[in-house]
Amino acid sequence: MRQGRYWLDTWKHLIAYDSKRGAATVDIRSIAGTINMTKLIAGNWKMNGLLAGSVALAGGLAEKVKANPGLADVAICPPGPLIRDVLTAVDGSSIAVGGQDCHWNETGAHTGDTSATLLADMGCSCVIVGHSERRADHDETSDQVKAKAEAALKAGLVAIVCVGETEAERDTGQTETVVGRQIDGSLPGGATPQTVVIAYEPVWAIGTGRTPSLEEIEAVHAYIRNRARESHGLGSGLRILYGGSVKPGNAAEILSVEGVDGALVGGASLTVEDFWGIIESCP
Ligand code: PEP
Repeated sequence: MRQGRYWLDTWKHLIAYDSKRGAATVDIRSIAGTINMTKLIAGNWKMNGLLAGSVALAGGLAEKVKANPGLADVAICPPGPLIRDVLTAVDGSSIAVGGQDCHWNETGAHTGDTSATLLADMGCSCVIVGHSERRADHDETSDQVKAKAEAALKAGLVAIVCVGETEAERDTGQTETVVGRQIDGSLPGGATPQTVVIAYEPVWAIGTGRTPSLEEIEAVHAYIRNRARESHGLGSGLRILYGGSVKPGNAAEILSVEGVDGALVGGASLTVEDFWGIIESCP
């Protein structure tokens, strides 16, 4: 029943819903395009976790999601070597599993890299590209992020494209300039609200316990939506996640901000209790 490139039809619970109705296909694009779309809560595990603990985390989360369906779309992005076991641990739940990065080539001499094609072949539904830690630690440019996102779409994965300003850039009033440039340069050609998600992650808020004000988050999300509409024809159906120190204690207010369609979560995605606390906070 896997249909390929559309965002929501990669999520297992919608496919199951589709089967239950006995319908051959549902035009998921019309569901994704509604204003009050289901929030997406995506966990970025980064370079954390060993095998046993990660399987326990994924399994614990799967149990919660199965027992409380429909609160949010949920994705987890473990380190690459754990993907296979994490996929097994969440089997039978609606949790989607994704990569944290991919190469722009499908195959070749790229030691240490992983192709989007392999992620898709393993059973992943999405991949994060352009995270600020990769832009900073690996000197990734927006051109490269765009190429990675294009490879993701070609492989049938949803690309979660990250953008965000540094503290110095915010302090000098450059947030819109920087984020705008990243949007223009990083979004893949042919992007649609079903194949691309944008994550706005102010670099200074990642892992620091600091967040922008709710008004600031709303303003940047509105700016991103307009910019993505102008540059790539993406509009109201586009999911824009906020990322940066989202915790159970602040998730409800952040997720209620106009234009925030979910969250990309780092540190608080590493325990069932915290990540579930965020999922439960979805309005
Ligand atoms: C991230 O790195 O994507 C992130 C949002 O991290 P944290 O939630 O820990 O700030």
